[in-house]
Amino acid sequence: MEYLVPTEGCKSISWGSSVYAADARGHVTVDDPARGKVLRDACELTPASAMGTATRTAGYRCPACSFGSWFRRCSRCDAVCVREG
Ligand SMILES: [Zn+2]
Repeated sequence: MEYLVPTEGCKSISWGSSVYAADARGHVTVDDPARGKVLRDACELTPASAMGTATRTAGYRCPACSFGSWFRRCSRCDAVCVREG
């Protein structure tokens, strides 16, 4: 099991008949490490474990568009964001 963090604006990845969607934390869960590697290379995904706390600011993450927001309301699409950090 591997957790990947998509770049801004990327909320899901299609792979054949499979769709990897970002969860509320903005992480894409991939159960096959080999696939995870290819997805990472193809989509510039960052392994969640590589994102240290120093690079993560406490804020909110929009589950709809993966926008990182300082506010509970997403300033990009107005969805209710999820607390992170
Ligand atoms: Zn949003």
